Amino acid sequence: MNNMYKKQRVCILGSTGSIGVSTLDVIARHPDRYSVYALTAHTQIEKLAQQCAHFLPQVVVVGSASAADGLRQLLLSRGLEKIQIEFGPQALCDAATAAECDSVMAAIVGAAGLPASLAAAQAGKKVLLANKEALVMSGSLFMNAIKSTGASLLPIDSEHNAIFQCLPRSFDGELDKHGIRKILLTASGGPFLYRDVDTLSAVTPEEAVAHPNWVMGRKISIDSATMMNKGLEVIEAHWLFSVPADQIDVVIHPQSVIHSMVSYNDGSVLAQLGNPDMRTPIAYGLAFPERIDSGVEALDLVKVGKLNFEAPDLVRFPCLRLAYHALRSGHSAPTVLNASNEIAVQAFLDGNISFNMIAQVIEQCLDKIPSSKVADLESILGVDAHARRVASSLIQ
Ligand code: NAD
Ligand code: MG
Repeated sequence: MNNMYKKQRVCILGSTGSIGVSTLDVIARHPDRYSVYALTAHTQIEKLAQQCAHFLPQVVVVGSASAADGLRQLLLSRGLEKIQIEFGPQALCDAATAAECDSVMAAIVGAAGLPASLAAAQAGKKVLLANKEALVMSGSLFMNAIKSTGASLLPIDSEHNAIFQCLPRSFDGELDKHGIRKILLTASGGPFLYRDVDTLSAVTPEEAVAHPNWVMGRKISIDSATMMNKGLEVIEAHWLFSVPADQIDVVIHPQSVIHSMVSYNDGSVLAQLGNPDMRTPIAYGLAFPERIDSGVEALDLVKVGKLNFEAPDLVRFPCLRLAYHALRSGHSAPTVLNASNEIAVQAFLDGNISFNMIAQVIEQCLDKIPSSKVADLESILGVDAHARRVASSLIQ
Protein backbone atom coordinates (compact mmCIF):
# COMPACT_ATOMS: atom_id res chain seq x y z
CA MET A 1 0.00 0.00 0.00
CA ASN A 2 1.18 3.45 -0.93
CA ASN A 3 1.20 5.69 2.15
CA MET A 4 0.71 8.87 0.16
CA TYR A 5 -3.03 8.07 -0.09
CA LYS A 6 -5.35 8.69 2.76
CA LYS A 7 -8.04 6.09 3.32
CA GLN A 8 -11.04 6.44 1.04
CA ARG A 9 -14.21 6.75 3.14
CA VAL A 10 -17.02 4.98 1.33
CA CYS A 11 -20.79 5.27 1.58
CA ILE A 12 -22.56 2.19 0.23
CA LEU A 13 -26.13 2.84 -0.83
CA GLY A 14 -27.81 -0.57 -0.93
CA SER A 15 -25.18 -2.48 1.08
CA THR A 16 -27.38 -5.56 1.61
CA GLY A 17 -27.92 -6.14 -2.13
CA SER A 18 -25.86 -8.19 -4.53
CA ILE A 19 -23.61 -5.26 -5.54
CA GLY A 20 -23.43 -3.99 -1.95
CA VAL A 21 -22.21 -7.36 -0.65
CA SER A 22 -19.62 -7.65 -3.44
CA THR A 23 -18.42 -4.12 -2.67
CA LEU A 24 -17.92 -4.99 1.00
CA ASP A 25 -16.08 -8.15 -0.04
CA VAL A 26 -13.55 -6.05 -1.99
CA ILE A 27 -13.28 -3.44 0.77
CA ALA A 28 -12.62 -6.18 3.36
CA ARG A 29 -9.55 -7.21 1.35
CA HIS A 30 -8.04 -3.70 1.66
CA PRO A 31 -8.55 -2.30 5.16
CA ASP A 32 -5.49 -0.11 4.61
CA ARG A 33 -7.17 1.68 1.69
CA TYR A 34 -10.86 1.90 2.51
CA SER A 35 -13.07 2.58 5.47
CA VAL A 36 -16.85 2.45 5.52
CA TYR A 37 -18.54 5.74 6.38
CA ALA A 38 -22.15 4.66 5.81
CA LEU A 39 -24.19 1.56 5.00
CA THR A 40 -27.81 1.64 3.87
CA ALA A 41 -30.48 -1.01 3.48
CA HIS A 42 -34.21 -0.96 2.95
CA THR A 43 -35.59 -3.79 5.12
CA GLN A 44 -32.90 -6.43 5.74
CA ILE A 45 -31.83 -5.26 9.19
CA GLU A 46 -30.30 -8.58 10.34
CA LYS A 47 -27.90 -8.58 7.41
CA LEU A 48 -27.20 -4.88 7.96
CA ALA A 49 -26.42 -5.48 11.65
CA GLN A 50 -23.89 -8.17 10.66
CA GLN A 51 -22.28 -5.77 8.20
CA CYS A 52 -22.13 -3.12 10.94
CA ALA A 53 -20.30 -5.50 13.28
CA HIS A 54 -17.71 -6.19 10.60
CA PHE A 55 -17.23 -2.72 9.05
CA LEU A 56 -18.13 -0.31 11.91
CA PRO A 57 -19.73 2.48 9.85
CA GLN A 58 -20.41 5.87 11.43
CA VAL A 59 -23.94 6.02 10.00
CA VAL A 60 -26.57 3.53 8.85
CA VAL A 61 -29.77 4.32 7.00
CA VAL A 62 -32.84 2.07 6.72
CA GLY A 63 -36.21 2.46 5.02
CA SER A 64 -38.59 3.15 7.88
CA ALA A 65 -38.90 4.15 11.54
CA SER A 66 -39.83 0.59 12.49
CA ALA A 67 -36.77 -0.82 10.68
CA ALA A 68 -34.68 1.76 12.56
CA ASP A 69 -36.16 0.58 15.89
CA GLY A 70 -35.46 -3.03 15.02
CA LEU A 71 -31.90 -2.23 14.00
CA ARG A 72 -31.33 -0.24 17.21
CA GLN A 73 -32.10 -3.39 19.26
CA LEU A 74 -29.79 -5.50 17.10
CA LEU A 75 -26.92 -3.02 17.37
CA LEU A 76 -27.45 -2.63 21.11
CA SER A 77 -27.19 -6.38 21.60
CA ARG A 78 -23.87 -6.30 19.75
CA GLY A 79 -22.47 -3.34 21.72
CA LEU A 80 -22.65 -1.12 18.63
CA GLU A 81 -24.90 1.60 20.02
CA LYS A 82 -22.46 4.32 18.92
CA ILE A 83 -23.46 3.86 15.28
CA GLN A 84 -25.86 6.60 14.23
CA ILE A 85 -29.16 5.23 12.86
CA GLU A 86 -31.27 7.21 10.38
CA PHE A 87 -34.18 6.33 8.12
CA GLY A 88 -35.95 7.54 4.98
CA PRO A 89 -35.04 9.05 1.60
CA GLN A 90 -33.61 12.34 2.93
CA ALA A 91 -31.26 10.39 5.21
CA LEU A 92 -29.94 8.52 2.14
CA CYS A 93 -29.11 11.86 0.49
CA ASP A 94 -27.51 13.13 3.70
CA ALA A 95 -25.29 10.04 3.95
CA ALA A 96 -24.28 10.32 0.29
CA THR A 97 -23.32 13.98 0.58
CA ALA A 98 -21.72 14.07 4.07
CA ALA A 99 -18.37 15.79 4.37
CA GLU A 100 -16.96 12.63 6.00
CA CYS A 101 -17.52 10.59 2.84
CA ASP A 102 -15.27 10.57 -0.25
CA SER A 103 -16.87 7.92 -2.48
CA VAL A 104 -20.42 6.73 -2.95
CA MET A 105 -21.30 3.29 -4.26
CA ALA A 106 -24.75 3.86 -5.78
CA ALA A 107 -26.22 0.34 -5.59
CA ILE A 108 -29.86 0.82 -4.69
CA VAL A 109 -32.07 -0.91 -7.24
CA GLY A 110 -34.42 1.10 -9.44
CA ALA A 111 -35.77 4.63 -9.37
CA ALA A 112 -35.58 4.61 -5.56
CA GLY A 113 -31.85 5.19 -5.94
CA LEU A 114 -32.10 8.33 -8.07
CA PRO A 115 -32.30 11.13 -5.46
CA ALA A 116 -29.30 9.92 -3.44
CA SER A 117 -27.20 9.03 -6.52
CA LEU A 118 -27.87 12.47 -8.00
CA ALA A 119 -27.18 14.16 -4.66
CA ALA A 120 -23.76 12.46 -4.54
CA ALA A 121 -22.99 13.77 -8.04
CA GLN A 122 -24.18 17.26 -7.11
CA ALA A 123 -21.98 17.18 -4.01
CA GLY A 124 -18.93 16.38 -6.18
CA LYS A 125 -18.30 12.94 -4.68
CA LYS A 126 -16.52 10.14 -6.46
CA VAL A 127 -19.59 8.25 -7.69
CA LEU A 128 -19.39 4.52 -8.39
CA LEU A 129 -22.55 4.01 -10.40
CA ALA A 130 -24.25 0.61 -10.40
CA ASN A 131 -27.79 2.05 -10.19
CA LYS A 132 -28.29 2.32 -13.97
CA GLU A 133 -31.98 3.24 -13.57
CA ALA A 134 -30.92 6.56 -12.00
CA LEU A 135 -28.93 7.52 -15.09
CA VAL A 136 -31.63 6.28 -17.49
CA MET A 137 -34.14 8.58 -15.77
CA SER A 138 -32.00 11.66 -15.30
CA GLY A 139 -29.24 11.35 -17.94
CA SER A 140 -28.75 14.96 -18.86
CA LEU A 141 -29.28 16.31 -15.33
CA PHE A 142 -26.94 13.71 -13.85
CA MET A 143 -24.13 14.22 -16.37
CA ASN A 144 -24.38 18.01 -16.02
CA ALA A 145 -24.05 17.63 -12.24
CA ILE A 146 -20.92 15.53 -12.72
CA LYS A 147 -19.43 18.11 -15.11
CA SER A 148 -20.31 21.18 -13.08
CA THR A 149 -19.02 19.85 -9.75
CA GLY A 150 -16.00 18.04 -11.19
CA ALA A 151 -17.16 14.82 -9.55
CA SER A 152 -15.61 11.65 -10.94
CA LEU A 153 -18.03 9.08 -12.29
CA LEU A 154 -16.91 5.46 -12.49
CA PRO A 155 -19.27 3.04 -14.23
CA ILE A 156 -19.71 -0.19 -12.26
CA ASP A 157 -22.10 -1.95 -14.63
CA SER A 158 -19.71 -4.53 -16.11
CA GLU A 159 -20.33 -3.50 -19.75
CA HIS A 160 -19.74 0.19 -19.09
CA ASN A 161 -16.79 -0.54 -16.91
CA ALA A 162 -15.36 -2.57 -19.80
CA ILE A 163 -15.99 0.27 -22.27
CA PHE A 164 -14.41 2.73 -19.85
CA GLN A 165 -11.34 0.50 -19.75
CA CYS A 166 -11.22 0.24 -23.59
CA LEU A 167 -11.58 3.99 -24.27
CA PRO A 168 -8.53 6.25 -24.38
CA ARG A 169 -7.85 7.78 -20.94
CA SER A 170 -8.13 11.23 -22.56
CA PHE A 171 -11.61 10.49 -23.99
CA ASP A 172 -13.81 13.58 -23.78
CA GLY A 173 -16.99 12.38 -25.49
CA GLU A 174 -15.82 13.26 -29.02
CA LEU A 175 -16.01 9.98 -30.92
CA ASP A 176 -14.51 11.21 -34.21
CA LYS A 177 -11.57 12.93 -32.57
CA HIS A 178 -10.62 9.67 -30.87
CA GLY A 179 -11.24 7.55 -33.96
CA ILE A 180 -14.13 5.64 -32.41
CA ARG A 181 -16.60 3.96 -34.73
CA LYS A 182 -18.92 2.16 -32.37
CA ILE A 183 -19.56 0.87 -28.89
CA LEU A 184 -20.31 -2.87 -28.85
CA LEU A 185 -22.33 -3.85 -25.78
CA THR A 186 -22.24 -7.57 -25.14
CA ALA A 187 -25.27 -9.40 -23.74
CA SER A 188 -25.56 -12.97 -22.50
CA GLY A 189 -29.10 -13.28 -23.87
CA GLY A 190 -30.28 -14.50 -20.45
CA PRO A 191 -32.05 -17.75 -19.64
CA PHE A 192 -34.45 -17.65 -22.62
CA LEU A 193 -32.01 -17.09 -25.49
CA TYR A 194 -32.83 -20.40 -27.16
CA ARG A 195 -36.23 -21.18 -25.67
CA ASP A 196 -39.15 -21.67 -28.09
CA VAL A 197 -40.67 -18.16 -28.41
CA ASP A 198 -44.19 -19.59 -28.27
CA THR A 199 -43.58 -20.91 -24.76
CA LEU A 200 -42.33 -17.59 -23.31
CA SER A 201 -45.78 -16.57 -22.11
CA ALA A 202 -45.74 -19.53 -19.71
CA VAL A 203 -42.34 -19.03 -18.00
CA THR A 204 -42.35 -18.69 -14.22
CA PRO A 205 -40.53 -16.06 -12.13
CA GLU A 206 -38.20 -18.82 -10.85
CA GLU A 207 -37.18 -19.75 -14.41
CA ALA A 208 -36.73 -16.09 -15.32
CA VAL A 209 -34.49 -15.16 -12.36
CA ALA A 210 -32.17 -18.13 -12.99
CA HIS A 211 -29.48 -16.32 -14.99
CA PRO A 212 -26.97 -18.65 -16.68
CA ASN A 213 -23.82 -16.63 -15.81
CA TRP A 214 -24.45 -13.98 -13.15
CA VAL A 215 -25.90 -14.04 -9.62
CA MET A 216 -27.84 -10.79 -9.17
CA GLY A 217 -30.84 -9.19 -7.50
CA ARG A 218 -34.30 -10.29 -8.66
CA LYS A 219 -35.23 -7.16 -10.59
CA ILE A 220 -32.10 -7.06 -12.75
CA SER A 221 -32.38 -10.82 -13.28
CA ILE A 222 -35.84 -10.40 -14.81
CA ASP A 223 -34.51 -7.46 -16.84
CA SER A 224 -31.81 -9.78 -18.17
CA ALA A 225 -34.41 -12.38 -19.19
CA THR A 226 -36.41 -9.77 -21.15
CA MET A 227 -33.22 -8.01 -22.27
CA MET A 228 -34.60 -4.76 -20.89
CA ASN A 229 -31.37 -4.79 -18.90
CA LYS A 230 -29.44 -4.40 -22.16
CA GLY A 231 -31.90 -1.74 -23.27
CA LEU A 232 -31.31 0.24 -20.08
CA GLU A 233 -27.58 -0.26 -20.66
CA VAL A 234 -27.80 1.18 -24.20
CA ILE A 235 -29.32 4.32 -22.67
CA GLU A 236 -26.74 4.26 -19.88
CA ALA A 237 -23.92 4.05 -22.46
CA HIS A 238 -25.44 6.94 -24.40
CA TRP A 239 -25.20 9.21 -21.35
CA LEU A 240 -21.92 7.99 -19.93
CA PHE A 241 -19.95 8.20 -23.17
CA SER A 242 -22.00 10.70 -25.26
CA VAL A 243 -22.65 8.08 -27.95
CA PRO A 244 -25.73 8.38 -30.20
CA ALA A 245 -28.08 5.38 -30.40
CA ASP A 246 -26.89 4.54 -33.95
CA GLN A 247 -23.35 4.03 -32.71
CA ILE A 248 -24.28 1.57 -29.95
CA ASP A 249 -24.66 -2.05 -31.11
CA VAL A 250 -25.74 -4.97 -28.96
CA VAL A 251 -24.00 -8.29 -29.60
CA ILE A 252 -25.19 -11.51 -28.00
CA HIS A 253 -22.27 -13.33 -26.41
CA PRO A 254 -23.61 -16.21 -24.32
CA GLN A 255 -20.38 -16.92 -22.34
CA SER A 256 -20.26 -13.44 -20.68
CA VAL A 257 -16.47 -13.43 -20.85
CA ILE A 258 -16.08 -10.32 -23.03
CA HIS A 259 -17.81 -7.61 -21.02
CA SER A 260 -18.01 -5.12 -23.93
CA MET A 261 -15.90 -3.60 -26.70
CA VAL A 262 -14.95 -0.40 -28.48
CA SER A 263 -14.64 -0.51 -32.27
CA TYR A 264 -12.16 2.00 -33.76
CA ASN A 265 -11.97 3.55 -37.26
CA ASP A 266 -8.72 1.77 -38.07
CA GLY A 267 -10.40 -1.62 -37.73
CA SER A 268 -9.21 -2.33 -34.18
CA VAL A 269 -11.67 -3.66 -31.65
CA LEU A 270 -10.63 -3.41 -28.00
CA ALA A 271 -12.33 -5.72 -25.52
CA GLN A 272 -12.19 -6.27 -21.77
CA LEU A 273 -12.43 -9.89 -20.64
CA GLY A 274 -12.80 -11.57 -17.29
CA ASN A 275 -14.79 -14.05 -15.28
CA PRO A 276 -18.37 -12.87 -14.75
CA ASP A 277 -17.92 -11.52 -11.22
CA MET A 278 -18.90 -7.95 -10.29
CA ARG A 279 -15.97 -7.64 -7.89
CA THR A 280 -13.73 -6.89 -10.92
CA PRO A 281 -15.53 -3.69 -12.02
CA ILE A 282 -16.11 -2.75 -8.36
CA ALA A 283 -12.39 -3.05 -7.55
CA TYR A 284 -11.53 -1.10 -10.69
CA GLY A 285 -13.91 1.68 -9.67
CA LEU A 286 -12.70 1.80 -6.09
CA ALA A 287 -8.99 1.88 -6.93
CA PHE A 288 -9.00 3.75 -10.26
CA PRO A 289 -6.49 4.54 -11.73
CA GLU A 290 -4.71 1.78 -9.79
CA ARG A 291 -5.55 -1.92 -9.84
CA ILE A 292 -6.06 -3.98 -6.71
CA ASP A 293 -6.88 -7.57 -5.86
CA SER A 294 -10.63 -8.16 -6.16
CA GLY A 295 -10.75 -11.80 -5.10
CA VAL A 296 -11.72 -12.82 -8.65
CA GLU A 297 -9.88 -15.80 -10.12
CA ALA A 298 -7.74 -15.26 -13.22
CA LEU A 299 -9.58 -16.02 -16.44
CA ASP A 300 -8.69 -19.43 -17.84
CA LEU A 301 -9.17 -19.00 -21.59
CA VAL A 302 -8.45 -22.64 -22.35
CA LYS A 303 -11.21 -23.66 -19.96
CA VAL A 304 -13.55 -21.12 -21.60
CA GLY A 305 -12.65 -22.66 -24.97
CA LYS A 306 -15.08 -20.84 -27.25
CA LEU A 307 -16.43 -17.34 -27.52
CA ASN A 308 -19.64 -17.09 -29.58
CA PHE A 309 -21.46 -14.08 -30.98
CA GLU A 310 -24.82 -13.50 -32.62
CA ALA A 311 -27.21 -10.66 -33.39
CA PRO A 312 -30.09 -10.03 -30.95
CA ASP A 313 -33.57 -11.13 -32.11
CA LEU A 314 -35.92 -8.18 -31.57
CA VAL A 315 -39.01 -10.36 -31.95
CA ARG A 316 -37.86 -12.55 -29.07
CA PHE A 317 -36.70 -9.50 -27.10
CA PRO A 318 -39.13 -6.60 -27.77
CA CYS A 319 -37.89 -4.75 -24.67
CA LEU A 320 -34.58 -4.07 -26.40
CA ARG A 321 -36.43 -2.47 -29.33
CA LEU A 322 -38.52 -0.38 -26.91
CA ALA A 323 -35.41 0.91 -25.14
CA TYR A 324 -33.83 2.08 -28.42
CA HIS A 325 -37.17 3.70 -29.27
CA ALA A 326 -37.26 5.52 -25.90
CA LEU A 327 -33.67 6.70 -26.30
CA ARG A 328 -34.41 8.08 -29.76
CA SER A 329 -37.61 9.77 -28.50
CA GLY A 330 -35.55 11.43 -25.76
CA HIS A 331 -36.73 13.77 -22.98
CA SER A 332 -39.03 11.90 -20.58
CA ALA A 333 -39.41 8.70 -22.66
CA PRO A 334 -36.59 6.78 -20.90
CA THR A 335 -38.17 7.68 -17.53
CA VAL A 336 -41.51 6.27 -18.76
CA LEU A 337 -39.73 3.16 -20.06
CA ASN A 338 -38.01 2.61 -16.72
CA ALA A 339 -41.01 3.27 -14.49
CA SER A 340 -43.39 1.08 -16.50
CA ASN A 341 -40.74 -1.65 -16.57
CA GLU A 342 -40.36 -1.55 -12.77
CA ILE A 343 -44.13 -1.88 -12.31
CA ALA A 344 -44.44 -4.65 -14.91
CA VAL A 345 -41.47 -6.63 -13.53
CA GLN A 346 -42.91 -6.48 -10.01
CA ALA A 347 -46.31 -7.58 -11.33
CA PHE A 348 -44.65 -10.52 -13.08
CA LEU A 349 -42.72 -11.46 -9.92
CA ASP A 350 -45.98 -11.27 -7.95
CA GLY A 351 -47.66 -13.62 -10.42
CA ASN A 352 -50.10 -10.99 -11.70
CA ILE A 353 -49.02 -10.87 -15.36
CA SER A 354 -47.30 -13.22 -17.78
CA PHE A 355 -43.70 -12.76 -18.90
CA ASN A 356 -44.80 -11.55 -22.37
CA MET A 357 -46.99 -8.88 -20.87
CA ILE A 358 -43.98 -7.02 -19.44
CA ALA A 359 -43.10 -5.65 -22.89
CA GLN A 360 -46.76 -5.01 -23.74
CA VAL A 361 -47.29 -2.87 -20.63
CA ILE A 362 -44.17 -0.82 -21.40
CA GLU A 363 -45.09 -0.34 -25.06
CA GLN A 364 -48.57 0.87 -24.15
CA CYS A 365 -47.19 3.30 -21.57
CA LEU A 366 -44.75 4.73 -24.13
CA ASP A 367 -47.67 5.13 -26.57
CA LYS A 368 -49.99 6.73 -24.03
CA ILE A 369 -47.53 9.16 -22.42
CA PRO A 370 -46.10 11.72 -24.84
CA SER A 371 -42.45 12.56 -24.29
CA SER A 372 -42.06 15.90 -22.51
CA LYS A 373 -39.08 18.03 -21.49
CA VAL A 374 -37.75 17.22 -18.02
CA ALA A 375 -35.34 19.75 -16.59
CA ASP A 376 -35.12 18.95 -12.88
CA LEU A 377 -35.49 16.12 -10.39
CA GLU A 378 -39.02 17.16 -9.49
CA SER A 379 -40.30 16.90 -13.06
CA ILE A 380 -38.52 13.57 -13.57
CA LEU A 381 -40.12 12.16 -10.42
CA GLY A 382 -43.46 13.54 -11.62
CA VAL A 383 -43.18 11.63 -14.91
CA ASP A 384 -42.02 8.53 -13.01
CA ALA A 385 -45.10 8.64 -10.74
CA HIS A 386 -47.45 9.24 -13.68
CA ALA A 387 -46.00 6.32 -15.68
CA ARG A 388 -46.33 4.05 -12.63
CA ARG A 389 -50.02 4.94 -12.35
CA VAL A 390 -50.63 4.30 -16.06
CA ALA A 391 -48.74 0.98 -15.93
CA SER A 392 -50.62 -0.13 -12.80
CA SER A 393 -53.99 0.68 -14.36
CA LEU A 394 -53.07 -1.29 -17.51
CA ILE A 395 -52.20 -4.28 -15.34
CA GLN A 396 -55.52 -4.13 -13.49
P1 NAD B 1 -30.48 -6.09 -5.03
O1 NAD B 1 -31.94 -6.24 -5.16
O2 NAD B 1 -29.66 -7.29 -4.72
O3 NAD B 1 -30.16 -4.99 -3.90
C1 NAD B 1 -30.83 -3.77 -3.87
C2 NAD B 1 -30.39 -2.91 -2.70
O4 NAD B 1 -31.17 -1.72 -2.74
C3 NAD B 1 -30.61 -3.55 -1.33
O5 NAD B 1 -29.55 -3.20 -0.48
C4 NAD B 1 -31.90 -2.91 -0.84
O6 NAD B 1 -31.95 -2.77 0.56
C5 NAD B 1 -31.83 -1.54 -1.49
N1 NAD B 1 -33.17 -0.99 -1.75
C6 NAD B 1 -34.17 -1.60 -2.45
N2 NAD B 1 -35.25 -0.78 -2.49
C7 NAD B 1 -34.92 0.35 -1.83
C8 NAD B 1 -35.62 1.55 -1.52
N3 NAD B 1 -36.88 1.77 -1.93
N4 NAD B 1 -34.98 2.51 -0.81
C9 NAD B 1 -33.71 2.31 -0.40
N5 NAD B 1 -33.00 1.18 -0.65
C10 NAD B 1 -33.60 0.22 -1.36
O7 NAD B 1 -29.98 -5.40 -6.38
P2 NAD B 1 -28.55 -5.54 -7.10
O8 NAD B 1 -28.57 -6.70 -7.99
O9 NAD B 1 -27.45 -5.38 -6.10
O10 NAD B 1 -28.59 -4.25 -8.05
C11 NAD B 1 -28.38 -2.95 -7.55
C12 NAD B 1 -28.22 -1.98 -8.72
O11 NAD B 1 -27.03 -2.33 -9.42
C13 NAD B 1 -29.35 -2.07 -9.74
O12 NAD B 1 -29.59 -0.80 -10.25
C14 NAD B 1 -28.78 -2.99 -10.81
O13 NAD B 1 -29.33 -2.71 -12.09
C15 NAD B 1 -27.32 -2.61 -10.77
N6 NAD B 1 -26.43 -3.67 -11.25
C16 NAD B 1 -26.38 -4.86 -10.61
C17 NAD B 1 -25.55 -5.87 -11.07
C18 NAD B 1 -25.46 -7.20 -10.36
O14 NAD B 1 -24.65 -8.02 -10.75
N7 NAD B 1 -26.22 -7.45 -9.33
C19 NAD B 1 -24.77 -5.65 -12.21
C20 NAD B 1 -24.83 -4.42 -12.84
C21 NAD B 1 -25.65 -3.43 -12.35
MG1 MG C 1 -24.57 -5.01 -16.99
